[in-house]
Amino acid sequence: MSTSLSGARRARELAELASGREVDLLVVGLGVTGAGVALDAAARGLRVAALDAHDLGFGTSRWSSKLVHGGLRYLAAGHLGLAYECAAERHILLRRTAPHLVSALPFVLPLTPLVSPARTALSRVGFAAADALRAVAGTPAAALPRARRIGAAEVLRLLPAVRRAGLRGGLVQWDGQLVDDVRLVVALARTAAGRGARILTRCRVEAVDGGTVAVLDTLTASRHAIRARAVVNATGVWAQHLDPTVRLRPSRGTHLVLRAEALGHPAAALVVPVPGERNRFVFAVPQPDGLVYLGLTDEAADGPVPDVPEPTTAEIRFLLETLNATLGAALTDADVVGAFAGLRPLLASRAGGSGGSGGSAGADGSAGAAGADGSAGRAVRTADLSRRHLVHTSAAGITTVVGGKLTTYRRMARDAVDAAVAHAGLPAAACRTAWLPLVGAAPASVLARVPAPARLVARYGAEAPAVLALAQGDPELLVPIADGTEVTGAELLWAVRHEGALDVDDLLDRRTRIGLRPVDRARALAAARGVFARQEP
Ligand SMILES: Cc1cc2nc3c(=O)[nH]c(=O)nc-3n(C[C@H](O)[C@H](O)[C@H](O)COP(=O)(O)OP(=O)(O)OC[C@H]3O[C@@H](n4cnc5c(N)ncnc54)[C@H](O)[C@@H]3O)c2cc1C
Repeated sequence: MSTSLSGARRARELAELASGREVDLLVVGLGVTGAGVALDAAARGLRVAALDAHDLGFGTSRWSSKLVHGGLRYLAAGHLGLAYECAAERHILLRRTAPHLVSALPFVLPLTPLVSPARTALSRVGFAAADALRAVAGTPAAALPRARRIGAAEVLRLLPAVRRAGLRGGLVQWDGQLVDDVRLVVALARTAAGRGARILTRCRVEAVDGGTVAVLDTLTASRHAIRARAVVNATGVWAQHLDPTVRLRPSRGTHLVLRAEALGHPAAALVVPVPGERNRFVFAVPQPDGLVYLGLTDEAADGPVPDVPEPTTAEIRFLLETLNATLGAALTDADVVGAFAGLRPLLASRAGGSGGSGGSAGADGSAGAAGADGSAGRAVRTADLSRRHLVHTSAAGITTVVGGKLTTYRRMARDAVDAAVAHAGLPAAACRTAWLPLVGAAPASVLARVPAPARLVARYGAEAPAVLALAQGDPELLVPIADGTEVTGAELLWAVRHEGALDVDDLLDRRTRIGLRPVDRARALAAARGVFARQEP
């Protein structure tokens, strides 16, 4: 079956489901977790539908730091199992399932007067342990080089904006970086579609009642009842709407968007310790298209969950001040071309009410017991709450999967499908996703020979020539659509024809990330509208 998503396919498949065709498993939410669940279930031979109220990657998944972590932070906190899980998942993404979307990035901690000799020694131990974990996970040093100490000249070559005075050298460590988080979600959804999953955006699940799911098509304002034998709730920070027994304590993480030239075009991520904190850092991470993301904060975000979280002025100030302590020349607000915030779906406490329905916690069942419950009146920083995931089947028969990391989405999906299959008694094969390449994936040696610009290969992998081919007879489609971006018309057209983009917001805010810089977004709007105007009927 085709991996292409389009408005026409969406309409056809929604009509089929609305007319009474039952699916084995219906996934609510198409962030990285829900898209991962859709692929896992479809690859096991189940009939799958996956719905999102908005778009692919609309929620937290598009606000991440875009890193595929090897678990260094968990090592530092003593969570060895979780750290290994991250390193193993990083290996699978980097080497097998998405080598086109994930690359190795050096992270440099400059040894400035801010970094004491004791902290230097501790960091070296941590980096060595992370290296050992990389090796145990099977990732060769050729793919992710070993951590090492470098001299001051090398630090300044990689990070030209770092202050020279008092620089004693640096520690460099390598980790995985996604070209963009939404590209991973889109690739998962399309790979699932290729295995028959119905991927339906602009479909809000309003209620689940036994085997009937009430759905609002927000494009037409029509309501439908879809029949499903099992339902997985992968709605992240919105999970409580479908399963009120799940307790979340979201935390907001903010990033700033800087032009790379403001930091002298860094060739590595800059790691800056947060003063007064033992295990907390701010990162300035180089991105494609001449940008750097500076993040991130960790602020409790209690109260109603907004569709799109907003960074606060205090967070912007904190990030700039922390970065500036390490730079030769301080950055100002004028250097900030954008800012974005996301809510981490952190577990507050274990869901109590499985109501004897066979409520199941997955491999990480202990996750709910983070021991951090705001209602108990204890002041707990969200940075200390568990980053593990929870899989829980409610009395109503809904399997919720929540928490975790983008890096570990595949395990979350596996555990959720295992639980849903067991609960509903579905005939399903074992999980296969560890060996299932996503659309566009190919071994590094093959990707190196794909006849297309490197920028496109990093986003589309082996499909890059097909994106280029859309411009045949119309070379204008290969020109950047506006000042400030390298995105071409061919990429927008590809997004509409093959990636399920339904409007200009999908194009500018998710299939591409021009929307992260408001000035560039305004410039690109006309081109995005033009793509829909030229779209074939
Ligand atoms: C600032 C920040 C930085 C991070 N950085 C990293 C990182 O670098 N690496 C890493 O591994 N992890 C990172 N994480 C964690 C990671 O981003 C999240 O764990 C992950 O993206 C959560 O994905 P999800 O699919 O569970 O939720 P979401 O992405 O929020 O998806 C939920 C979806 O459900 C949909 N939905 C909600 N209600 C309904 C409904 N009723 N009907 C239909 N659809 C509905 C929403 O529209 C949304 O698309 C970061 C998190 C934050 C906040």
